[in-house]
Amino acid sequence: MPVALVTGSSRGIGAAVAERFAADGFDVVVNYRTSEDAAAETAAAVRDHGRGATVVQADVSDPDDAARLVDAGVEEFGRLDHVVNNAGIDQHVYTEDLDPGDFDRVMDVNVNSAFNVTKAALPHLRASDADPTPSVTNVSSILAYTGAPIEVHYAGSKGALLSVTKSHARDFAPDIRVNAVAPGHVETDMTADRSPEEREEELAGIPMGYYGRPEDIAEAVAYLRDARFVTGETLNVNGGELMR
Ligand code: NAP
Repeated sequence: MPVALVTGSSRGIGAAVAERFAADGFDVVVNYRTSEDAAAETAAAVRDHGRGATVVQADVSDPDDAARLVDAGVEEFGRLDHVVNNAGIDQHVYTEDLDPGDFDRVMDVNVNSAFNVTKAALPHLRASDADPTPSVTNVSSILAYTGAPIEVHYAGSKGALLSVTKSHARDFAPDIRVNAVAPGHVETDMTADRSPEEREEELAGIPMGYYGRPEDIAEAVAYLRDARFVTGETLNVNGGELMR
């Protein structure tokens, strides 16, 4: 059976991706940093689809933890075919008040983690006989294009992730495809802090008229997993908020 590893799959988009991969016939390595119970729920949802799940606590911003995560998944299932670098954190602070340590932390979790996990997974992806070829999908953001003054480190991290995506796509072709999704506003814990006024303002800028569901992003990740001639690409999933 093909195997997928989804970082940050205890909640939100990552949990939806894990469940979508299970529905599509994949065993899934579920990862979390602190939300143990939520990760167990994701694993239960995977098993409800008749697929295997293993749950691994790891802070993917740490290279040793990332390697341990990959090793644990391969030990459980014997192979690894797809990686989704989804784990991410956000913080709303203007530059004047932004601590350099917080800047680094957001970069570590949102960018370095993708490098860490992809690097650790590389020998296993190269060994995969997946058809279409094995793949890595990085979860970026619409803010990679627009910037965001109140979260310069977050927007910067998501922009960097797109460059990492293209660099790895060139590096690993033709054996492994590397793509990104760039979600707009999605209904998860990350966007739960909006006031009704902020929400109304944001919704007015989304032609489709609603925040995306985590499943909408999972659908795009599944497409990229199966798109054999697509690599180095970013799929924008934002309800028309940004048309490029
Ligand atoms: P979320 O609901 O806050 O979930 C974040 C996930 O990342 C959780 O599973 C969390 O694990 C995990 N995580 C955080 N730091 C981690 C670390 N150091 N190591 C391992 N796991 C870690 O966020 P979300 O909205 O689903 O976001 C998922 C991805 O989509 C992120 O990369 C985010 O930037 C991106 N995105 C989201 C939106 C949006 O509107 N929601 C828009 C564009 C892009 P724990 O539960 O254990 O903390």
